[in-house]
Amino acid sequence: MLLHCDPNDGEGSLKLVEDLTTNANEVQQQILEEILTQNADTEYLKSFLGGCFDKEQFKNKVPIVTYEDIKPYIERIANGEASRIISSQQITELLTSSGTSGGQPKIMPSTAQDLDRKTFLYNLLVPVMNQYVDGLDQGKGMYLLFIKPEIRTPSGLMARPVLTSYYKSCNFRNRPFNRFNVYTSPDETILCSDCRQSMYCQLLCGLIQRDEVLRVGAVFASALLRAIKFLEDYWQELCSNIRTGHVSDWITDPGCRNAVSDILRQPNSELAHLIESECIGNGKSWEGIIKRLWPRTKYVDVIVTGSMAQYIPTLDFYSGGLPLVSTMYASSECYFGINLKPLSEPSDVSYTLLPNMAYFEFLPVERNHDQAAVTQGIQCNGGGSDRNGLRREEEEEEEEEEEEEEEEAVDLVQVKPGHYYELVVTTFTGLYRYRVGDILKVTGFHNNAPQFRFVHRLNVVLSIDTDKTNEEDLLKAVTQAKLLLEPLGFLLTEYTSYADTCSIPGHYVLFWELKMKGNGNQQQQQQAAELNPSIMEECCSTVEQSLDSVYRRCRSKDRSIGPLEIRVVQHGTFDALMDFCVSQGSSVNQYKTPRCIKSEKTIELLDSRVVGRFFSKKTPHWEPYRMEAK
Ligand code: AMP
Repeated sequence: MLLHCDPNDGEGSLKLVEDLTTNANEVQQQILEEILTQNADTEYLKSFLGGCFDKEQFKNKVPIVTYEDIKPYIERIANGEASRIISSQQITELLTSSGTSGGQPKIMPSTAQDLDRKTFLYNLLVPVMNQYVDGLDQGKGMYLLFIKPEIRTPSGLMARPVLTSYYKSCNFRNRPFNRFNVYTSPDETILCSDCRQSMYCQLLCGLIQRDEVLRVGAVFASALLRAIKFLEDYWQELCSNIRTGHVSDWITDPGCRNAVSDILRQPNSELAHLIESECIGNGKSWEGIIKRLWPRTKYVDVIVTGSMAQYIPTLDFYSGGLPLVSTMYASSECYFGINLKPLSEPSDVSYTLLPNMAYFEFLPVERNHDQAAVTQGIQCNGGGSDRNGLRREEEEEEEEEEEEEEEEAVDLVQVKPGHYYELVVTTFTGLYRYRVGDILKVTGFHNNAPQFRFVHRLNVVLSIDTDKTNEEDLLKAVTQAKLLLEPLGFLLTEYTSYADTCSIPGHYVLFWELKMKGNGNQQQQQQAAELNPSIMEECCSTVEQSLDSVYRRCRSKDRSIGPLEIRVVQHGTFDALMDFCVSQGSSVNQYKTPRCIKSEKTIELLDSRVVGRFFSKKTPHWEPYRMEAK
């Protein structure tokens, strides 16, 4: 079932949403039937179903899997074996996800038809938005979009991030209204592989066309903030280009140069002056700079749910309180759904999974998942009310009992409001009952289709941009780094971390408590303060070098993450952290140091005991994922 949506036909498109959500179950059953009949002969499905395509058998016999289970099949395809080991449709490329396996990006299969499915979802966003904001056709969108490096696998298939794949496709070039120049960034500037030139040119084009801009956006909040930081660094040069009508000489990419020159046709000193006066701000800060530079902007189109929620206050500051709109929920595996109420507050955003995108199942997860996340160190909200802190003992015991009865995955229409689930997908591209790793909460229904709040990604403790560092990766990296201290007689006794997004780009902060082997307290404290800075900086670099390739790419290629920082804290700080968490309702018996903290009070507590701060001085080594032929 491959549907088409004509975004010019607002009424027709919205009717499609109504039909899909009203018939959610029927559509899901049809989708599963199609996937099974098309793929029953693939090596993967045949190994469980012996060629049968019965839906009940599928659920009974095909296991729910993680990436590690399907990795061998995907690697075989990357190494040249035929697509049909997992998919009857030709796999045309591989998508590198921001999730990693063994330190390298996970790779997901994709097909030509998959691009059309994505286009369908993108096209729906336009009519949905038009319902809530008038007159969007009277101006332009300034969307700052970027491509990332790609590689050719031994089979000849390209492996690249999902958005790079989409931006390089005809579907993107021919996207609705593109030929009417409704976007300020020419395609050539988006498709430029030098991210500095791409950013500069997109901002220049956006500034020149500032009077026409009605919406400003990027995919994730982190990318838009990076653009604002870039603007802070480059506004004088940008204004000078506008004043002289000449693009800076360092813009050497021919596509970018030509496209920008077409827009920057003549010197415009009046515009340059106007922009300059906003940027200088006459003593004012950059508060509301988006609204001041692009005065007709009606909303900011960036995802601010999930890990991006940490950027909401900064975005509010720069946008001057414009609505922040999270339009869709998607991944490399599959595009899932859209936000049918785009103007809702970020904390109220729910996504409606479109039942024609894939076959969705849901693994129930424990009842108080928000709180469970806390004890697992996914986030520590302690510091608010005690109900936000660590859980009470009785609750934990009760839930442990519940957990013992393993629950089965349920269908899309069977999920219950208020309950938490892990998303499992079966796609047209060769993923069967695949655990995406996202935890969602059911917030309600649109017709018969449930709506979900994105709660968090399983196991991720730190994230600044598209990086997703889990507890295990963090432990491995810290373990590597602490080896540098041992010859000096120091032991790392405790650590925790947080994503510091006060400055742009944000950076990882680790709090370390150190102990001198065999020495008394006072001395320990003193020694910690006298740590050799160059060794500590080396520890910072070692942690960075040991983190996965997505972190290292963000840090060294995209520059979307700043240098990692280690803050050494006084002896006894982690005891104080425990006392604090216990005072907030944590069980003493089951207390485990959270490996990531979020609440301001906890960060303040640790910060007040810092005796030394050290930053990484090197950018970690990164090179595009290379697949060795097997
Ligand atoms: P990737 O596979 O690198 O494209 O990353 C996909 C993941 O990004 C999803 O599985 C989610 O964890 C996260 N993500 C995507 N869209 C959203 C959204 N709208 N809100 C929160 N998280 C999202």
